[in-house]
Amino acid sequence: MNCKKCTIKAVIGLPRHNAAFCKACFNEFVLEQVTRAIKGERMFGRDDRILVAVSGGKDSLALWDILLKLGYKADALYVDLGIPGYSTKSREKAQRFADGVARTHEAKLLIHKVEEEEGAGIRELADLIHRPTCSTCGTIKRYQFNRAAVEQHYDVMATGHNLDDEASRLLGNVLHWQEEYLDKQGPSLPASVEGFAKKVKPLYRLSEREVAAYSVLNRIDYIVDECPMAKGSKMLLYKDVLNRLETESPGTKQAFYCGFLEKQARAPRQGSGQAQPAPASMAEKDRATLHPCATCSQPTTAEICSYCKMMARAKAGSTR
Ligand code: SF4
Ligand SMILES: [Zn+2]
Ligand SMILES: [Zn+2]
Repeated sequence: MNCKKCTIKAVIGLPRHNAAFCKACFNEFVLEQVTRAIKGERMFGRDDRILVAVSGGKDSLALWDILLKLGYKADALYVDLGIPGYSTKSREKAQRFADGVARTHEAKLLIHKVEEEEGAGIRELADLIHRPTCSTCGTIKRYQFNRAAVEQHYDVMATGHNLDDEASRLLGNVLHWQEEYLDKQGPSLPASVEGFAKKVKPLYRLSEREVAAYSVLNRIDYIVDECPMAKGSKMLLYKDVLNRLETESPGTKQAFYCGFLEKQARAPRQGSGQAQPAPASMAEKDRATLHPCATCSQPTTAEICSYCKMMARAKAGSTR
């Protein structure tokens, strides 16, 4: 198998593109796909300050690496969830990348420790409030990343979600007809209101296998183990199903997700075909109902934001 571009021996075959590449041409391919995503979705420009959400895994570290190679100003934030064993190991991987590649680009790593800030790790907090660990984790990570991005004046927050993540999430949303989530599923979500950072997913054109190959070929030292809390998650099942379809019919994931994005972009406004007055946008509606949380000042539609409510319940639970 030879490289499609330069004809030397290939190191990776990409059936969905009917191509194979050597290391140099594969790296070029990866950087091109990310550039297309950034420009096509108007994610950010050269002068914007980007905050990358890193977990120590291949996707987020590869994203940080690619953005720095492309010349963007990208710092990163790691949220330490306090999961015994896993968090220490994954934090070390993020720190090692920060001390090596990132430092040469003068990029820095910020670290938030949930245990230090809230007095307990994610599993204990989830037990105290009787909620699944992953949903507790989602609320904490969203809050911490948004707060850091806004308070430290980053223009945009970038996450390492790849094509497999997005296609499996879409499959889950379609299977359950979660239209409100479908509306919000895209690779670039604008800052709907002041106090909420813009969120982008520059790896959405690359599959998980391609990101893993990029990380290995470029010697990025990442944590291979999945978070122990992910075991049995529906997302892993959806990924498995999509992988089986992809093996039988290369290009299925891309056709599924990118087809959705095209339809979403072309979707007519509800109603008859006639020009309709534009409905109040999400941003307008949000702006009308949002105000600062009485506890932390982050924007919320209630008096107290969901993060502060969660932490208050955890504190009440721990004193019982
Ligand atoms: S698997 Fe669950 S607990 Fe682990 S990082 Fe993901 S959302 Fe958080
Ligand atoms: Zn080549
Ligand atoms: Zn709050």
